[in-house]
Amino acid sequence: MTTHQAPVNGARPWALLAELTHACPLHCPYCSNPLELARRSTELSTGQWTDVLRQAAALGVVHTHLSGGEPLLRPDLERIVAAAEAAGIYTQLVTSGTGLDEARLGALCAAGLRSVQLSVQHADAKANDRIAGRPSSFAAKERAAALVRRAGLPLGLNVVLHRDNLDAVDDLIELGEAWGVDRIELANTQFYGWGLLNRAALLPTRDQLARARETVERRRERLAGRIDLVWVVPDYFDGVAKPCMGGWGAVSLTVAPDGTVLPCPAAASLPDLDAPNVRDRPLDWIWEHSPAFNRFRGTGWMSGPCGGCPRREEDFGGCRCQAYALTGDAARTDPACALSPDHHLIRSLTDTGPVQEPPPYVYRRPGAVPEPGHGGSPEPAGR
Ligand code: SF4
Ligand code: SF4
Repeated sequence: MTTHQAPVNGARPWALLAELTHACPLHCPYCSNPLELARRSTELSTGQWTDVLRQAAALGVVHTHLSGGEPLLRPDLERIVAAAEAAGIYTQLVTSGTGLDEARLGALCAAGLRSVQLSVQHADAKANDRIAGRPSSFAAKERAAALVRRAGLPLGLNVVLHRDNLDAVDDLIELGEAWGVDRIELANTQFYGWGLLNRAALLPTRDQLARARETVERRRERLAGRIDLVWVVPDYFDGVAKPCMGGWGAVSLTVAPDGTVLPCPAAASLPDLDAPNVRDRPLDWIWEHSPAFNRFRGTGWMSGPCGGCPRREEDFGGCRCQAYALTGDAARTDPACALSPDHHLIRSLTDTGPVQEPPPYVYRRPGAVPEPGHGGSPEPAGR
């Protein structure tokens, strides 16, 4: 394993995922928040986020996703947007739409907000609310979309695809058109964290995926030049590893609500990563010298089939978090890759097909003590 090497080609990050809080009014069963949520009392203050943004800009960051959880739950969001604007960083709000009203959006625009990504769980309001685990969340999204369009900001629709909504891809694209979005991202569920916990309920069939893929291709031709339609591949079914964040510690970094800095949002799941924190170290040291950022940087750490593979500079050996989640070893080839000696772990699931009666969604890790308002916490919505 290589540690303390310089970033590849002296690369600097250009993107920052700023997870302002893990708190969220929704309870999506595939939530990208870690199973261990940062408590609100441990969140970075406004001043600390301002400092992080200044340091990030000095490091080369030009774009930040202000995300969560639900970033609108931060009462100081406007001040954080203003801090990014002052640092010369383009801001994109990633929101469920819950809690966005005209006054709040006006204040965010005045602070310098540049664009919005809105998540939606289904094109049908009832199904959306069931998957999101919150009544009336679809109505809130519809209102939020209209407000954002009226404010003249670019709007993207984010959809995580799974067994419960893949058959509605056509309707979801129509919904995006009706809401006047500029971009629709259709991202097939990644099965680690909450997604892995709910895999039996979320795993689709090959037929569902084939139909959805065909719909996307057909729609893409029709929407060309109007709406950017992005399909994030279902790596479980395609036998190909997904490139990890453009390479580990290569182009982007994530700052978690408590100041933990990670090469990818899910890396907190790796048990021996020794993730650094902006409370203890400057961001440039973390980027260049921290063992966590150097752990899987470049290709020198690779062994097994990745070591001599011509695709290793393209997909970077796939997802480290998925490799760990499925094999217990984060340095192994991602089992999603057909060349991985662990590929059978995935084929055994995709070849047998999904269970006939999917289990109910799990919204809380067994034994965990929930904190009110956190995504992934109580109140299962049932199916
Ligand atoms: S529960 Fe909240 S944070 Fe998690 S995926 Fe849903 S909207 Fe995002
Ligand atoms: S063996 Fe490794 S580098 Fe080659 S395609 Fe598979 S994951 Fe990518």
